[in-house]
Amino acid sequence: MERPRAHYRDLLARYLTPQWRRAVALALLLFTVTGLQLLNPLIIRRFIDQAMGGSAADTLAVIAAAFMVVAIATQAVSVAATYLSEQVGWTATNLLRRDLTMHCLRLDMPFHATHTAGELIERIDGDVTALANFFSQFVIRVLGSGLLLLGVLALTFREDARIGLALGAFVLVAAAVLSRIHSFGVPYVTADREAAARLFGFIEERLAGADDIRANGAGPHAMRGYYQSGRAAFRSARKAAVVNAGLVSATMLLLMLGYALALALGAYLYRAGEITLGTVYLLFQYTELLRRPLMQVTQQLREFQQAGAGAVRVRQLLDIPAAVPDRAGEPLPDGALTVAFDDVSFAYDDEGPVLSDISFRVEAGSVLGVLGRTGSGKTTLTRLLLRLYDPTSGTIRLGDIDTRAAGVAGLRQRVGVVTQDIQLFQATVRENLTLFDSGIPDDHIIRVLTDLGLDGWLASLAGGLDTELEPAAGGLSAGEAQLLAFARVFLRDPGLVILDEASSRLDPATERLIERAVGLLLSGRTGIIIAHRLATVQRVDHILILEDGRIAEQGTRRALAADPRSRFSGLPRAESGGAVTARGDAGDETDPRPLLLVGDEGA
Ligand code: ATP
Ligand code: MG
Repeated sequence: MERPRAHYRDLLARYLTPQWRRAVALALLLFTVTGLQLLNPLIIRRFIDQAMGGSAADTLAVIAAAFMVVAIATQAVSVAATYLSEQVGWTATNLLRRDLTMHCLRLDMPFHATHTAGELIERIDGDVTALANFFSQFVIRVLGSGLLLLGVLALTFREDARIGLALGAFVLVAAAVLSRIHSFGVPYVTADREAAARLFGFIEERLAGADDIRANGAGPHAMRGYYQSGRAAFRSARKAAVVNAGLVSATMLLLMLGYALALALGAYLYRAGEITLGTVYLLFQYTELLRRPLMQVTQQLREFQQAGAGAVRVRQLLDIPAAVPDRAGEPLPDGALTVAFDDVSFAYDDEGPVLSDISFRVEAGSVLGVLGRTGSGKTTLTRLLLRLYDPTSGTIRLGDIDTRAAGVAGLRQRVGVVTQDIQLFQATVRENLTLFDSGIPDDHIIRVLTDLGLDGWLASLAGGLDTELEPAAGGLSAGEAQLLAFARVFLRDPGLVILDEASSRLDPATERLIERAVGLLLSGRTGIIIAHRLATVQRVDHILILEDGRIAEQGTRRALAADPRSRFSGLPRAESGGAVTARGDAGDETDPRPLLLVGDEGA
């Protein structure tokens, strides 16, 4: 494990410096609490000695009243100190949570492909909560306890040097032993948190895939996995708890030795007539006062270790750089964008290239249809355009600007995508369409929905644009979800539209709406369509057929359709509205008829 100390210093500096005023106030309150705690046993000693000496009841009553006032004041000030320390802690860690969340959102697909959402939740929430305890309680408890320890030792020393020395020696021995036995517990705590993170990751993944699990009858299998992770988490939690209980008992035993020492010493000195009964009480009370700081320091040391592991993980997460660095870059030109791939190759990992030597050009305003079997690299091609990944070699130009030189945010603003699976958020229709951009006026949204033929749907919603949608497209038909995704792109008015067509079949009415929407979307814009429907293929100017990540064929649709030897013309003829699959092996075609696209003037 890395040294947590440097990470703490770093995090403390970054998140506590803005609150230094509160920190100073907190320190003052801590001083006050400590002083009051030390004062009260002195008052009681006075009371005992006066009572033994036969003082008047009035004097005793005044001392008792003073005791009450100090006791109440101690409580009041410690409540204030606790409040302030929680406030400091939560303010700091909420900022940290915010930064972590933003960082995770900024990290790109390679990162999210290897980290489950559950794991990130545990990082952002679990680890940061441990840090919150550290920020708020560690400071108040450890600093406060340290002050109290020093105060007790100083006062006892003033009372009687021998007693002071004895208590001092006890504190040193106890602290050494306690810190030694507590480092013993750390690996168990770390293992416990890691097992919990794995369990969360597992649950999250299964819940996200609940539909598929149900549909495939994989429930028992998922549950078996759950039991395994749960059992592992339980075992490590139990181990950590047992070790912890052992450590607490050892601590208690040690403290009892301290009481015994104080009582024996007090009895001896009282017998010898060197101290009063009140001082014996004071000695005992001060030893009792040592108990809390010693316990708390050790408890806090444990939490410090927990937070230490968290601090390391949090720092590591913050230090992961985005694979696609997001610098401000050249803005892309307005209007329809040309797209040019120049000898582009790309690999996700060291499994070998997914795209090789891809070169093509789409003029501004024209539409390219990409065909290819499943797994041939069509979706990957569109991810490169969005800079979800950068190519391994070669260059991609949008509007004659190298995508690497264009800022990520600016680029994504100018490129609109409709993907195969549409992500809706648990938010209003309006927010789902504008993606939380409150600058888009309602009448604009309504106009777009009307253009797309969704006005009937909108009218059927009780709350109109304010209706809450369920996440993951729940309650919407596949066609409606697609049309909403179109509306999103419309509202952003991009210069390039990428359409990764869903291959699912829709009813003819929705099909017509989608066709119309595609037409509207493409007018005045450059388009790249991964087409699964005949009707969509008809719309494109150019065709590009991918095969195992290479371009197997490209050309204008008319030329390819007219050339009987082309793969495109050899595509199996599907029923109208059916799916198009690039077979690419025209030689052993089951359906030898060339694909005659309905209404294709070139054929
Ligand atoms: P489909 O028609 O099924 O949508 P596709 O042509 O869009 O297929 P891609 O999704 O681009 O195919 O995938 C191309 C290849 O890259 C496949 O072999 C796939 O396994 C691999 N691949 C896709 N995404 C990743 C990823 N995130 N990490 C690693 N490999 C990936
Ligand atoms: Mg795909």
